[in-house]
Amino acid sequence: MTQLVQPRLVNPPDGDPGVYLDFRFGRRAMLFDLGDLAPLGPRELLRVSHAFVSHAHMDHVASFDHLLRLRLHRPQPLAVIGPEGFLRQVENRLGAFTWNLLGADSVDFRLTAHEFDGARLSASAEFRAREAFRRRDLPPPTLGDGVVVSEDDFTVEAVALDHRIPSLAFALREAVRVNVWRTALDDLGLPVGPWLDEAKTAIRAGASDGHMVAVPGHGAMPLGELRARVFRIGQGQRVAYVTDAADTAANRARIVEIARDADHLFIETPFLEADRDLAAATAHLTARAAGEIARAAGARRVAGFHHSARYTGQSEALAAELAKAFAPGSTTAPDPSPSAADRGAP
Ligand SMILES: [Zn+2]
Ligand SMILES: [Zn+2]
Repeated sequence: MTQLVQPRLVNPPDGDPGVYLDFRFGRRAMLFDLGDLAPLGPRELLRVSHAFVSHAHMDHVASFDHLLRLRLHRPQPLAVIGPEGFLRQVENRLGAFTWNLLGADSVDFRLTAHEFDGARLSASAEFRAREAFRRRDLPPPTLGDGVVVSEDDFTVEAVALDHRIPSLAFALREAVRVNVWRTALDDLGLPVGPWLDEAKTAIRAGASDGHMVAVPGHGAMPLGELRARVFRIGQGQRVAYVTDAADTAANRARIVEIARDADHLFIETPFLEADRDLAAATAHLTARAAGEIARAAGARRVAGFHHSARYTGQSEALAAELAKAFAPGSTTAPDPSPSAADRGAP
């Protein structure tokens, strides 16, 4: 089945952290982290609806200005989500510029910002170009625990990791995927129409086989029959992003939880296990720890990134250590490309 998003690292593994989630439909994208975004062109950045920021160390937010400048005179809204203290940081960032040319006649660009406190969205604010980006506090959306965005097709979940400060990890989870099998529809002589969306909604909601669906021209049909003959149902895609976290038991448990069964797990591999002291001193994972976590989570593919500058020219060593811990006994040589280590995928 077609995937909801195509995720990819924005930079090579030794560049700034960040993942671009390109939606296959709807001319839309999202970003995990806002480090160096130079490799992304204006057309790619104009599609971004949400940017999820792990924490405000500079390598994770430095391109906020770049994105803002591009979006400023365009009406598409942008939402940014970050850890506690993030609203003040966004407000301060906007306050670093002079906005006297903005006013009631400006294009109505809206930036909304949300804070995730480790359990839920705890504070929100809106900054509108027409109001010269004055902060306007809003009640935060009431979503489930651990959820930062919820739409019909997917949710994005977050968890706060210990990096001496909170560092958020994120996971996009596609809803159960329900596609119409057009040939079967034609064979049964059933019409195309809004009833298909109603049936899809019922399937996603877990309605029983006996649930009756009104089909124009055919009366009511049991959902079980439609489910078996007209729809193809598959588990939705899962993409997880984990960066800047100390190697502690509590962090490992939280990461395994949010990365469980991920089709793509992007996880930081800044240090070799041999330099575990350096990793501990800066509250980061080692490549081996990242591989062990990916394995425990049952991820299908894992990509390492955020390589420390001390390993310039040694990216392969970090990738190999990750791959070995992820799939011990694997005889496949690690591929130096970002989505390198692969397990279980064809
Ligand atoms: Zn950091
Ligand atoms: Zn970092």
